[in-house]
Order: sequence, then C-alpha cells, then structure tokens
Amino acid sequence: MNIRDIISKARSENRTALDEFAGKQLLASFGISVPKSAVIKGADEAAAAFAKLTPPLVLKIMSPDILHKSDAGGVKVNLKSAVETADAIRRMMNSPALRAARIDGFLLEEMAPGGQEVVVGAVRDPQFGPLVMVGLGGIFVEVLADVAFRICPITRLDAREMLADLKGAAVLKGARGRKPASQDAIVDVLLKIGGEDGLLLCHADDFREADINPLIVSESGAVAVDARFVLR
Ligand code: ADP
Ligand code: MG
Repeated sequence: MNIRDIISKARSENRTALDEFAGKQLLASFGISVPKSAVIKGADEAAAAFAKLTPPLVLKIMSPDILHKSDAGGVKVNLKSAVETADAIRRMMNSPALRAARIDGFLLEEMAPGGQEVVVGAVRDPQFGPLVMVGLGGIFVEVLADVAFRICPITRLDAREMLADLKGAAVLKGARGRKPASQDAIVDVLLKIGGEDGLLLCHADDFREADINPLIVSESGAVAVDARFVLR
C-alpha cells in the first residue's frame, strides 16, 4: 500500500493516529531505518512470522486505545524463540490492562543494535507551521525537558546546531564510559523529517503531531523503533 492509501485508510477508519506499522512504513518511505517486522493477529501466527525474522525479536501490542505500550505491559523485548513469542502474545491478550483495549494485532520486529535513545518529534505551530524537535531519550526529555526546536524546513547546519544546543550533548560523544552515538545519523534523520523535502513539509496537512520515541543511535547508524503520527 502506498503512503497516501495508508493515510486515507486510517482516516476512513476514523483513527486519530496511524498505527505503529503504518507509521514506520511512512518513515521508511522517507529513507529512515526501521526494524524489519511483521504484523500478526494472534499466537497461532507467531511461528510463521518468527521464522521470517532474525531474533532476538520484540513483540508489541497494536491498539488505538494504548498510547504507552510498555506502561500497559504491551512490549516484550528479547524474544528468542517462536514458543516464547506465542506465550508472550497469550499473556498480553489475557492481561487485565490490555483485555479491555481494542486490539488491531501484534507487531513482531527485529531488535535494533544497542545505542543512545534519542527522541525526534514534530508539532505544528499555528503561526509558523511544522516545528521539528530533538532530545535525548529517557530522563533528558521526560524530567529535564532538554530539547531543541526549529521551524521547518531545517538545513544540515540547523540540525547540527539543534544537537549542540542540548545540555546533554556530551552524552552523544560517549560521556561516562558510554559508546558514542553517530551525530551524523541523527542529523540525517532530522533532515528527512524536517528538511526541505522532508516528511513534515511533504505531509504538512496530514499530521497534527508526530514522534519517533525512541530513535536508537549507535556508532554506525540510527533505527526508529517507535513511531506515532497523530492525524489532523
Ligand atoms: P512505548 O513507548 O509505547 O512504551 P516502544 O515501542 O517505544 O513502546 O518500546 C518501549 C521500549 O522498548 C523502547 O523505548 C526501547 O527501549 C525498547 N524497544 C522497542 N522496540 C525495540 C526494538 N525494535 N529494538 C530495540 N529496542 C526496542
Ligand atoms: Mg516509545
């Protein structure tokens, strides 16, 4: 399905946001790396899907009712076998927190190589239009609100300055024994989202807000492992 059809389908189903699989297809169409994945309906499809992917895998609930999947017990990482995967699906289906939710299916995907978690976001300003945001994942964004914003379209220089503006910028260079994270890979994603031919300007009328949370950034590249696009 092409991106226009994916967006039209979500609208025709009265969804307020794209599901995670659709969101990642959109990111991939702009050249952003996402994990290889499959969508399955239930435990009986686990073995066939598992066989087509390279473990360890991550299983995630797909539900329009659940915004924070891990808080609801809807993410299981590091699955090493089809049996483990089928069990995890059954457990999610039976968990009290998830039983009441509408379930679209389960996203089964490959694990990204370890790295620094970064958040890339977008909001619309009524006056300036799309803004792109970047921050470091975890407490940097949630507790310290250490983020940088720019009006789209951004240039490569803007993207570099956004990273330099972060108070936690040193973390990307590998502070305190951590491995460095590729700043070029983050800049590349920021341009694909917020640049001149980027996703936000190409889809200016489609989305109210968007985020990649997290983008996992290693020394050699960046993978978007969660994607949320809220429709206008
Ligand atoms: P949510 O934000 O809705 O709780 P995520 O899809 O962001 O769910 O998954 C929660 C966490 O699990 C992520 O922040 C990340 O640390 C880890 N994770 C999720 N998917 C992957 C993946 N494909 N590879 C590696 N880690 C992952
Ligand atoms: Mg997330």
